[in-house]
Amino acid sequence: MSDKKSATIAVRTGITTDSQHNAVVPPIYLSTNYEFPEFGEVPTYDYARGGNPTRNLLETALTELENGAGAVVTNCGMSAINLLLSLVGPDDLIVAPHDCYGGTYRLFDSRARKGAFKIEFVDQSDEAALASALAKNPKLVWIETPSNPLLRVVDIEAISQQAHAVGAWVGVDNTFLSPVLQKPLNLGADFVVHSTTKFINGHSDTVGGVVVAKEQALADELKWWGNCIGATGNAFDSYMTLRGLRTLSARMRQHEENSAEVLAFLQTEPLVRVIYHPALPDHPGHDIAKKQQKGFGGMLSFELEGDENALKQFLKALELFSLAESLGGVESLVTHPGSMTHRAMSDEAQAEAGIAATLLRLSIGLEDHTDLVADLKQAFDKVRENQ
Ligand code: PLP
Repeated sequence: MSDKKSATIAVRTGITTDSQHNAVVPPIYLSTNYEFPEFGEVPTYDYARGGNPTRNLLETALTELENGAGAVVTNCGMSAINLLLSLVGPDDLIVAPHDCYGGTYRLFDSRARKGAFKIEFVDQSDEAALASALAKNPKLVWIETPSNPLLRVVDIEAISQQAHAVGAWVGVDNTFLSPVLQKPLNLGADFVVHSTTKFINGHSDTVGGVVVAKEQALADELKWWGNCIGATGNAFDSYMTLRGLRTLSARMRQHEENSAEVLAFLQTEPLVRVIYHPALPDHPGHDIAKKQQKGFGGMLSFELEGDENALKQFLKALELFSLAESLGGVESLVTHPGSMTHRAMSDEAQAEAGIAATLLRLSIGLEDHTDLVADLKQAFDKVRENQ
């Protein structure tokens, strides 16, 4: 466990460790294979699927940032979740939130249909529903907090205690906040997963993931499975992600500052029907978020007042918010979860998760916040003009 603060870990991991030329920034190792010193003597690295020095450095940084025992960097966030599923079998039950990221929902649902494990989707903020799912002795409780796209917040510490009481592991998708703003392993979870594609890399130019384990034995098992099923990330993406990670703390501060300005504006806008953001005192997860998060992050969702026509006009009018999937990059994005990120969910599953037809999700980037607010304002005005 490192006694250094997150910003220091992110900036310093691997810096001035190059023994060959004393390079300040660690070099990238693209080689697929490594020479054996002698017959029968296996080197630390032999083949890049199983281990690579550049990926290993990123794993070290993310392990320390999440305060775990070890990590596996994977080729995307979904493969990090899929890797974790290697630890469960056909008789095991997974309890997952009914409003998790659409790709996660699809993965759990599809693998369960093939008999890989059993799955139960529940509203984890409903204590009775969660208690009845836990009574079935699950092997893994999956948590996504704040959730994508509605930013529902659940109590990681409380759920971890309840899950451990029935012998279940707890895995947390920490993609929306990053270890700078939330450290699930410190709150009792056993695994943390990220789509590093998002805030951790932060520049929308690599796809990657990581699973961090709290216990060494589980970290070793995941490393074994990572090599076995070929889920590991490549050297170039690891290098890029480590480069992005260096500025994570500074970026998260600015994402949050800009989000607070956008949030303040949206609260004054009559065409906003409802805002989903845990910073709002009337958000059901506000108190839990204040307790377990170090900040509110850079994501928010809201429902636009009006019909599909109004939605189309609003999206067309926006200039600084690009209509695109993904999140957590320096550039601001707007996403329509129903037709984009969560389209893998059936209409019924979307309705059950509370994903309304005019729900929009914003990933607030690092542009000047006055420009972002002005852009939103002119887009709302255009909708008003056409009413
Ligand atoms: N988890 C969350 C919360 C996500 O938003 C995403 C992608 O949007 C993923 C996991 C999957 O990550 P990736 O796209 O890197 O596979």
